[in-house]
Amino acid sequence: MSTTSPEYAPDVVWGGQWEHPVCGASGEATWGDEETAYAGHECENDGEVTWSAEWRCDACGATSGPYLLGDDSPTYSDHECGED
Ligand SMILES: [Zn+2]
Ligand SMILES: [Zn+2]
Repeated sequence: MSTTSPEYAPDVVWGGQWEHPVCGASGEATWGDEETAYAGHECENDGEVTWSAEWRCDACGATSGPYLLGDDSPTYSDHECGED
């Protein structure tokens, strides 16, 4: 337990739901900030997998979203933790 460093360590976690409207498949995933939203959905149907995702910072409790993303999209919160 450190009592000397009150600095926030950004700890952003993303979570979201994906959906493939043409076939009706859907699912959920969580991933880290600056990682990629990737459904890994293998399907014979055309059409894009879409994501609705939001992030949460465990260090300060900030949240944002939902964001609408395409599959295999990099996600950046650009969160400046500790600023108020
Ligand atoms: Zn599908
Ligand atoms: Zn934060």
